[in-house]
Amino acid sequence: MEGENIIITGANRGIGKELVKVFAEAGANIWACMRKENEDFVSWKSELEQKHNVWIKTVCFDITDSESFDIGIKSILDENIKIDVLINNAGISTVKLLNKSKLEEVKALFNINYFSMLNMIQKISKKMVRQKSGVIINMGSIAGIEPQPGKIAYGSSKAAVLFMTQCLAKELGPLGIRVNAIAPGPIETEMIQQYNTEQLKQLSVESSLRRLGKTEEIAQVALFLASERASYINGAIIKVDGGR
Ligand code: NDP
Repeated sequence: MEGENIIITGANRGIGKELVKVFAEAGANIWACMRKENEDFVSWKSELEQKHNVWIKTVCFDITDSESFDIGIKSILDENIKIDVLINNAGISTVKLLNKSKLEEVKALFNINYFSMLNMIQKISKKMVRQKSGVIINMGSIAGIEPQPGKIAYGSSKAAVLFMTQCLAKELGPLGIRVNAIAPGPIETEMIQQYNTEQLKQLSVESSLRRLGKTEEIAQVALFLASERASYINGAIIKVDGGR
């Protein structure tokens, strides 16, 4: 990935932060998109920059706030350099049964997980179309494939992400852009802290490897999908769940 330029959303923690690390190690320059940058991230990224001779620019915006979103995206586009890869990783999760779900909350979740991703792809793919090249990777979830109680909002939003990925692969493939999705199983990040110890144990045994996944195990798949090694992979949904 040496010298390639990558946009990563939700880059400040969890899977997104691991993506920054793995892509920087592979020699890529990164626009790390996040709501807020803290001092720890500043020193962490400057170490990576020096060690791997890359740049990592933080771009701060909330993906649901159209004003700051537009400013953030404009600052990237105004640099007028090639955008090789877009990784749509930011997202939130809830577990709520139907009778506890409020329509407004479901809409807000869709706004983050689905509509903001679509907005991002619309803006960035225009440039990729002009370049006649680009790779888009969307973070789905196993929840968008396996129906489960309590996942009507999160699971449906991720199912929509996976379907969008496949539609866009067909639309953008002929224009030189590959679009793929990763569908992780439960991964050790803050996102799964909503589960208690018993539930986490249950999630572990549901995987045939009998454990939760690690952020690096997702980031390495993203790296592969972004690379030339995956040059004939388009419209794929790669499950990374330890074999559920
Ligand atoms: P985390 O909760 O650790 O991180 C979520 C990231 O998304 C944070 O950087 C967060 O920013 C960002 N984000 C959320 N809302 C917004 C917003 N409105 N604007 C900008 N950024 C936002 O989750 P993970 O790292 O685990 O998840 C990353 C992706 O992987 C998500 O799409 C998730 O659905 C998916 N995934 C995760 C699984 C897991 O088990 N962990 C399993 C399957 C899929 P901030 O710090 O500001 O809140």
